[in-house]
Amino acid sequence: MKITEHLSASENKTLFSFEILPPLKGQNIQSIFDGIDPLMEFKPPFIDVTYHREEYVYIERAKGLLEKRVVRKRPGTVGICAAIQSKYKVDAVPHILCGGFSKEDTENFLIDLDFLGIKNVMALRGDAVKSEIYFTPDPQGHNYANELVEQISAMNRGRFLDEALENGHHTDFCVGVAGYPEKHMEAPSLEKDIQRLKTKIEAGAEYVVTQMFFDNQKFFEFVKQCRESGINVPIIPGLKPIATKKQLTVIPHRFHVDLPNDLTREVEKCRSNQEVHQVGIEWCIAQSKELVAAGIPVLHYYSMGKSSNIKAIASEVF
Ligand code: FAD
Repeated sequence: MKITEHLSASENKTLFSFEILPPLKGQNIQSIFDGIDPLMEFKPPFIDVTYHREEYVYIERAKGLLEKRVVRKRPGTVGICAAIQSKYKVDAVPHILCGGFSKEDTENFLIDLDFLGIKNVMALRGDAVKSEIYFTPDPQGHNYANELVEQISAMNRGRFLDEALENGHHTDFCVGVAGYPEKHMEAPSLEKDIQRLKTKIEAGAEYVVTQMFFDNQKFFEFVKQCRESGINVPIIPGLKPIATKKQLTVIPHRFHVDLPNDLTREVEKCRSNQEVHQVGIEWCIAQSKELVAAGIPVLHYYSMGKSSNIKAIASEVF
């Protein structure tokens, strides 16, 4: 089913969903199932699987001799989605990026998803690869996520890149896009970022999932501004429980989001990461309960493959 259909069928009950990332190359899929199994009792209607593009790494070939290589450390997004749909009978939502994809790669990727019976995709631009300062699109690819959404929408109308190869079939994807309650790091202002979010909706996106945030007021304000700008699709909050002290610096730096002083103070008081884990769970439960009370249709958790904290939160909230 499409995400929009799950939302319509929810009868105003807040749904639980989560996001996982593929395991590092060389591991097997069992680690994915081990992360999903404990969360199935909360009946997620869909599970997102992130996409990871190539990275530059240095491999030591001989003593002191480093070889620069380009590798994808976490391949497997499509295979994991197919496995989830077959094993759990739950809709899997693969993420698809502009970065590293030509338009033809995108078309072929979407054909694979269509043949696998995948009904939803999350369309994203992707970030700069680690060795670059700015995002550089593939020369034959898309610059921004709205262009990627346009390509998917065109395929939903039966329009492929080469008209001569069209054969009457059209895909039927429900497309999600990213939104940033604290604005995307490259955007000059939140207002401008929301205008650009609107172009993704106008291109055919049917729902928004937000970047993580730790202060619900930022989410409520973002939703208000989106509505005032004419964005009327569902906006799904993305939530992540803090689990380590290191994340106090990593999260603001990497995701460009603020951590409330109260949360930072509580984490700083902890004597071990086990205590931080508990603080993160309690903070996220409080956030989740307030969002449920506000009638938010789905809460989407960034599990990063670790289910114990998400299970503790879901047990209190759903
Ligand atoms: P866009 O919507 O293209 O926006 C990028 C920037 O460009 C913004 O600052 C925007 O304001 C600006 N912009 C947009 N359109 C235009 C335009 N036409 N002209 C000028 N400026 C414009 N990354 C991964 O690599 N893999 C994943 O699986 C993944 N999953 C994610 C899931 C969620 C829910 C979120 C929130 C992020 C995810 N990301 C993922 C990270 C994402 O790829 C980065 O945040 C990326 O920098 C922006 O992606 P976007 O789709 O929001 O880009």
